[in-house]
Amino acid sequence: MFRTQGLTKLYGGKDTAPVRALDGVDLALPKGEVVVLLGPSGSGKSTLLNILGGLDQATSGKAWFHDKELTAMSDRQLTLYRRDHVGFVFQFYNLVPSLTARENVALVTDVAHDPMPTEEALALVGLDDRMDHFPSQMSGGEQQRVAIARAIAKRPAVLLCDEPTGALDSRTGVSVLEALNEVNVKFGTTTLIITHNAGIRRMAHRVIWFQDGKVTEVTRNDSRLTPAEIEW
Ligand code: ADP
Ligand code: MG
Repeated sequence: MFRTQGLTKLYGGKDTAPVRALDGVDLALPKGEVVVLLGPSGSGKSTLLNILGGLDQATSGKAWFHDKELTAMSDRQLTLYRRDHVGFVFQFYNLVPSLTARENVALVTDVAHDPMPTEEALALVGLDDRMDHFPSQMSGGEQQRVAIARAIAKRPAVLLCDEPTGALDSRTGVSVLEALNEVNVKFGTTTLIITHNAGIRRMAHRVIWFQDGKVTEVTRNDSRLTPAEIEW
């Protein structure tokens, strides 16, 4: 589904040496997997996710989504790519505080081509009974699950999650990871999860290890744990 070749991203560099946020990354990620990205802070994980999600442009090298070369797309093409294919989940949920859970999800379903019903998206993440709550009336885990419902409601091929449990305690974090797993099983959504919590790697099909802008190792799990079995 994704392939990169020598993908490189430099930041800054007018007065100082540029930062090599990504330094020649070669990857191939098949469709339908849960992939966990691990590595120290500053190792390039978010930079890779943002380029694969069409939020950022590489400095050199190439990246493909299926047979479409992301690194050859204009800003306008990247906007359409994001709209049609990519769901994002970030550490802080970015919900609109004055809208209910249902209304937050409807912001997306109102403009998507072939969305699932808002209620179905919220039910899928276990929030059937919270649809008319405002963000301030929900726990962090519930708010993050609304954000996941919003991200998946347009049936994206890819779900890109940057530290989705970073602001949550372990119990609510498990409920968020269970929602991501559920979406992966039900729709085959290719799911990339950046995390600082090394335990989470055990729920992945595939684990990618980063250091200094490089991929140092890619491993596969023969057997996976459920989120509830993960040690935090
Ligand atoms: P991670 O997500 O693994 O913590 P990032 O991809 O966010 O790492 O960052 C990789 C490197 O690129 C870091 O050194 C970071 O400081 C730098 N960086 C990231 N974004 C920017 C930016 N917008 N401007 C300048 N440097 C950046
Ligand atoms: Mg990051």
